Amino acid sequence: MKLWEGMEQDLNYNAMLSQRGIINLYHNDGQRDAYIRRGNAMWMEGVPAELLDRAALKKMLPFLNFDHARFPIMGGLLQKRGGTARHDAVAWGYARAADRLGVDLIQNCEVTGIRRDNGVVTGVETSRGFIGCGKLGLAAAGNTSRVGEMADLKLPIESHVLQAFVTEGLKPAINHVITYGAGHFYISQSDKGGLVFGAEIDGYNSYAQRGNLATVEHVMEEGVTMIPGLSRVRVLRSWGGVMDMSMDGSPIISHTPIDNLYLNCGWCYGGFQGDAGIRLVFCASHRQERNPSRCAFPAP
Ligand SMILES: Cc1cc2nc3c(=O)[nH]c(=O)nc-3n(C[C@H](O)[C@H](O)[C@H](O)COP(=O)(O)OP(=O)(O)OC[C@H]3O[C@@H](n4cnc5c(N)ncnc54)[C@H](O)[C@@H]3O)c2cc1C
Repeated sequence: MKLWEGMEQDLNYNAMLSQRGIINLYHNDGQRDAYIRRGNAMWMEGVPAELLDRAALKKMLPFLNFDHARFPIMGGLLQKRGGTARHDAVAWGYARAADRLGVDLIQNCEVTGIRRDNGVVTGVETSRGFIGCGKLGLAAAGNTSRVGEMADLKLPIESHVLQAFVTEGLKPAINHVITYGAGHFYISQSDKGGLVFGAEIDGYNSYAQRGNLATVEHVMEEGVTMIPGLSRVRVLRSWGGVMDMSMDGSPIISHTPIDNLYLNCGWCYGGFQGDAGIRLVFCASHRQERNPSRCAFPAP
């Protein structure tokens, strides 16, 4: 959280970080216990967390469906410093900061091949011609497997579509990020008033940047189960993005068997909140290469 809290200053860019609090709802004793463990893990890292019982939650979020026959809401775990940030602004902020450090950013330039000489990467073939390099970092998210294949890498990654939805603008109604414990549903309200929500990935591998209708229906059902009033709101737009799903949900930030080829992938649907942390890892490994004695991480 501290990394996020310092990001806008570091990048000198307004990422619209909004620490409105995140509430994970629980629906049974087992889930409550799991959230107590999660809350304790946060406290151990110095991040406050609060377990809310049903009465406290009812006061805060009266619009929830507390008495659903199958998934009654028993309470929630509140982390007050959590929240949202504008993802485009974070990308723009990083891009501008990288540009100022001398990084060349070439847009609309597709990598179509990875050239190797005696097992060492010498550069990439692109839609704008060949670009030579001493080292190559592969960070192509949903297309990791396809780009990795260009260097004969077989990776433990599956590509799946994840959809998101935005409704018409409403007056302020939902003040937190709320997640539904009986499914993957999450919801928050944007500054423009639209409700932003989503849930599970589509259940099959795909590189298509659009989702299937069965999942749309499923997400809507989850939303209306949690907040019945949602049934009267109109969805304005939805889209799907391709996720690089690793088998255990953990990202892979690593060397590869090819000496000068590095990998950053497998962020699944958590790669946005990982942004602030990955900044630290990259800065640390950069420092390590320039000055090993100052490195915060052990050499690989
Ligand atoms: C609908 C949706 C909702 C999400 N919600 C959240 C959330 O709430 N919280 C969260 O933490 N994460 C969320 N995520 C996940 C998050 O967006 C990703 O984990 C994150 O963007 C991955 O970052 P990345 O830098 O690894 O890859 P990306 O940001 O995907 O960047 C990869 C880049 O590689 C480029 N590329 C691919 N192939 C090639 C090629 N051959 N040549 C050149 N360039 C190429 C792509 O164009 C892209 O720009 C969501 C994702 C989606 C789709």
